[in-house]
Amino acid sequence: MTKFNDDCDSDRRRMLKLAAASIAVPLLPVFIANAAPLTYTLTPQKIGDGVWMIAGVQEAITFENGGAIANITILDSKDGAIVVDTGPSRRYGEQLATLARDLTGKDIARVYITHFHPDHAFGNQGFDVAKVAAPDGVIKGLAAMGNSFSDAMYYIARDWMRGTEIVLPSKTVTEGVEEIGGRKLRLMPRAGHTASDLAILDETSGTLIAGDLAFLDRAPTTPHADLAVWQTTLKELGDIQCRLLIPGHGPADAGKRALTQTHDWLIAIQEIIERCFNEGQDMPEAMQAPLPKAFEGMALARYEFTRSVMHLYTKLEAAKLPSVGAREK
Ligand SMILES: [Zn+2]
Repeated sequence: MTKFNDDCDSDRRRMLKLAAASIAVPLLPVFIANAAPLTYTLTPQKIGDGVWMIAGVQEAITFENGGAIANITILDSKDGAIVVDTGPSRRYGEQLATLARDLTGKDIARVYITHFHPDHAFGNQGFDVAKVAAPDGVIKGLAAMGNSFSDAMYYIARDWMRGTEIVLPSKTVTEGVEEIGGRKLRLMPRAGHTASDLAILDETSGTLIAGDLAFLDRAPTTPHADLAVWQTTLKELGDIQCRLLIPGHGPADAGKRALTQTHDWLIAIQEIIERCFNEGQDMPEAMQAPLPKAFEGMALARYEFTRSVMHLYTKLEAAKLPSVGAREK
């Protein structure tokens, strides 16, 4: 039996806690004695006029990557830099703020947070909180879940997290167009990946910033997802005319491959997991189910599928198995 399954059998409660934490934490964190230089390498890619993306690595959160796995977007405007998502830690947020000022030659005009997951929202401390905005559901989610995310992040990324505290956005984003320094931003509070996700269309450059509503060449994370709602949102995003789409994880792409791939993955895992459940397989068996060949090259496919089995099985059990109380009636 693998080490993974040993852990699964002997300490399922801990695994479920990790699954509930919803972040891309490794199931078996490795402790490394040697200290890494605790400076992130932030490499901005210019992908449009006054538009830069800092690509996250296509990995789960580890000590080695310091949690820098999510894509970050910086937009230039006459009033200053507009930053979408702040990364996993105070240190990252501070470096990001410096980079945004250097790239634009101006101060920070606005920061948007796409959703409450720590790889996107734990760098808020690097910014003036008066400039940080998110939909109401993101703020409430971060308030409710932030501490448990923080525990998991400190456990995995350790020294990278030093001094990191939860900072709640102070501005509430609602549906509509916001113009900042000549840049028109269509703000679209939606849901699916979590109960509250923000997509932003920069109408000025034709860039759709999808947050974790879209993944590309990296398996989507589902611990806080509502798969049916997510599909509805993906369809809506697919109808938007844009020049380029920036997913939450994976390369920017002009062809909306991220929306199609995310849709196909969610359909596939739901079918596989429900079939395994209906066949009476237990969780460890279901975790071994073959995945479609189309996803062979996708980063973290087995890893995310395993996490999806953990929480979707729990939902299926709650929905389909009679409770003890129900049997007694
Ligand atoms: Zn996420």
